[in-house]
Amino acid sequence: MKRTKIAELIGHAPENQKVLVQGWVKSHREYPDVSFVALNDGSTIKTMQIVLDANFKAEYEAAHPDQDYKELMKSINTGAAISVVGHLVPSEGKGQTSEVKATGLKVFSPFNPDFPLQKKGATLEFLREKMHLRPRSNTFGAVFRIRSAAAFAIHKFFTEKGFFYVHTPIITGSDTEGAGELFHVTTLPLNNIPKTADGEVDYEQDFFGKSAHLTVSGQLNGETFAMALGDIYTFGPTFRAENSNTSRHLAEFWMVEPEMAFYDIEMNQDLAEEFIKYVIQYVMDHCADDLEFFDEFGHTLNQGVGKRELKARLNFVLKHKFKRITYTEAVEILQSASKKFEYPVKWGSDLQSEHERYLVEDHFKKPVIVTDYPKDIKAFYMKLNDDGKTVRGMDVLFPGIGEIIGGSQREEDYDKLVKRIHEMGLPEEEYWWYLDTRRFGSAPHSGFGLGFARLLMFLTGMTNIRDVIPFPRYPRNAEF
Ligand code: ATP
Ligand code: MN
Repeated sequence: MKRTKIAELIGHAPENQKVLVQGWVKSHREYPDVSFVALNDGSTIKTMQIVLDANFKAEYEAAHPDQDYKELMKSINTGAAISVVGHLVPSEGKGQTSEVKATGLKVFSPFNPDFPLQKKGATLEFLREKMHLRPRSNTFGAVFRIRSAAAFAIHKFFTEKGFFYVHTPIITGSDTEGAGELFHVTTLPLNNIPKTADGEVDYEQDFFGKSAHLTVSGQLNGETFAMALGDIYTFGPTFRAENSNTSRHLAEFWMVEPEMAFYDIEMNQDLAEEFIKYVIQYVMDHCADDLEFFDEFGHTLNQGVGKRELKARLNFVLKHKFKRITYTEAVEILQSASKKFEYPVKWGSDLQSEHERYLVEDHFKKPVIVTDYPKDIKAFYMKLNDDGKTVRGMDVLFPGIGEIIGGSQREEDYDKLVKRIHEMGLPEEEYWWYLDTRRFGSAPHSGFGLGFARLLMFLTGMTNIRDVIPFPRYPRNAEF
């Protein structure tokens, strides 16, 4: 017999049909002549009530004369893995419409009193130390079902729009932004690194014959494909060795990077807004039970999140058009704000998280897209405006999160691009293939990068980025 997942079973009308359910015990309530087991199989946050009644007991004892029924009942407790055959019948109890009246039971793995997730109300910090078991908690089960649905929504959105999914490399010999923060990839012996005559590391002897590292972004490779297939996106892991122990940064995170031929910065903003709204709507439509859980209980886990705030926030974002302002306007607003910031605001310096959040949470009270940043604080490939001072970059800022998307219209002019590479002190020869895209059939194009984990923080209301990725990597932590 094939097992039916609980998510599916909940939707079936109980007509005494025979079913097989398999999962992990959440709780077990024993009474003198009946026992109720709440079973979860991961397919939903909901549990199926399994009823072990007097009939079951009599039949079990007759079939297993050498076994102690009391011991069996003890073995079925929080964390145990079991398999149950029974009949789906209407439930008399509160809280569920159907239940499984067991006729057969198999214990794969009995209750172990050392199971760390027995008590309710474990903190997120505690669960982070049990990264390998935390998916079994209600909270993390919900996070990762939502993560899966959102990933699917991303592919669905772009596929429906005629974008092609491109797999850009994870190991790369070029640094997208020249920003540093790279993880090196090498097979050189670390205790005896070969050196050249002038004392530099001799990468000639390394695996790739040059210095290589984990990618910080798939953009440059993505651009070469946008100049061929038109609209493309990448969705894969990216790496940054930034030594920032914040609640919004990971050393390994997944990024979605669409790149579109013939898009200007306006179209880029339109797409970013439509895209985020689509994914939010998809998750609201397909993860109702998990969102309901966070809506009701999220505030008990995360500081600064109100009860019944999450769904209202998601709906609010869906309903309102994102505010669009230039960096210069943003600076003016921040400078005339009565709020005192830790970092002073002055034209030319990057907006800090506190500034971004002020704009979104206090001033406009909705998502904000900031464009036209000073060229000196942005990457070399962003298209220079006619003022010669600002570039067509755009950051999408979200409540509670700050920057969720960073993007730009790209510089398509060969000479201007080379000039920017020199101005920023980058090695032109490293970019020869990238520059070729501006020599052959160059065209206006734009793109952006969405940090998938940041979007998940917004979707779930989880306030620490380490709690929305299965196995977070951050400074001094690569356990599991
Ligand atoms: P921030 O200023 O927040 O560090 P950034 O300017 O470095 O972001 P980009 O280089 O533009 O970000 O990367 C694109 C997107 O990737 C960001 O908008 C953000 O959503 C996400 N992102 C960037 N760095 C990280 C990180 N360390 N961990 C998780 N997501 C990140
Ligand atoms: Mn960063």
